[in-house]
Amino acid sequence: MTLVSELTVESLERLTPRMTRITFTGDGVSSIKPWPDQQLKLLFPPVNRPLVLPAAKAEGDGMTWYMAYQSMPAEDRPTMRSFTVRGLTEGRLVIDFVLHDHGGPASSWAKTAQPGDVLARYGPAEIYRQDLALDASWILLAGDETALPAVGSLLPLPNAVTLVEVADKEEEQDLPDVRWLHRNNTHHGQPLVAAVDQLDIPDNDVFVWLAGEAAMVRTLRRTLVAKGVPKRAINFTGYWRSRLTQDDAPTEADMADIQERLAAME
Ligand SMILES: Cc1cc2nc3c(=O)[nH]c(=O)nc-3n(C[C@H](O)[C@H](O)[C@H](O)COP(=O)(O)OP(=O)(O)OC[C@H]3O[C@@H](n4cnc5c(N)ncnc54)[C@H](O)[C@@H]3O)c2cc1C
Repeated sequence: MTLVSELTVESLERLTPRMTRITFTGDGVSSIKPWPDQQLKLLFPPVNRPLVLPAAKAEGDGMTWYMAYQSMPAEDRPTMRSFTVRGLTEGRLVIDFVLHDHGGPASSWAKTAQPGDVLARYGPAEIYRQDLALDASWILLAGDETALPAVGSLLPLPNAVTLVEVADKEEEQDLPDVRWLHRNNTHHGQPLVAAVDQLDIPDNDVFVWLAGEAAMVRTLRRTLVAKGVPKRAINFTGYWRSRLTQDDAPTEADMADIQERLAAME
């Protein structure tokens, strides 16, 4: 399968005021094997400049391509951001973009995207596929709006409690069995943490999946561990960081999260 290819916008659908669904065509898309919670990188062209990709081939593990990407002149180098495959049908790749208010190349691109616009993908790659215990007898999926594409790809799941925090009622999507929580201008994560704290959680055979703003995810995990959920039963990912871009260096808290994730894999 081609690891890197250009993607061309075929169509756009505004799902909610702050979420747009974009359908892309592109080389190799029809041979991507789908799985739930499938992640990839998207490459956004610099503002008012064409998309330029490294000349190196990106087969196998993509290492050579990635080195060539990093060595591109800064003014040409596309910005890389993480996204989730929301759908793969009939040779089309579907991605849902959160249209947040804090700038950033990805959200800004999605706000003005038109049919025919071009970006690129790096992945998805099987080596980044996560081992999720989706056969556990009790499952919790919890996250904010950036987690919705992954949640949508995981549902329906028997035995899952699904809690998603969004800005307000207008941001709810048509998904089965989701309990929606509305931020309504309270602090990001506050309604979700409160809801998770009130859950009755069985003692055994539990699996938890958490994604969204990094500090929120950290608090959710701490809350669940305090309620007796084993750390190994919690898959957690900070999808974005308040006031920091994806290019900014990891903070001490990010480094501690990475250590915890590594420890859970041992
Ligand atoms: C594995 C993975 C899968 C992801 N899947 C998706 C997905 O399918 N769809 C999706 O929309 N996002 C997804 N994300 C989150 C997305 O990568 C980040 O939100 C990313 O920071 C957006 O890039 P940007 O260029 O818009 O903003 P950046 O340049 O990274 O940041 C600019 C500013 O915007 C703020 N910001 C970034 N994201 C948000 C947000 N969501 N809400 C409010 N403020 C924000 C930052 O704090 C910063 O101040 C995923 C992240 C990961 C790690």
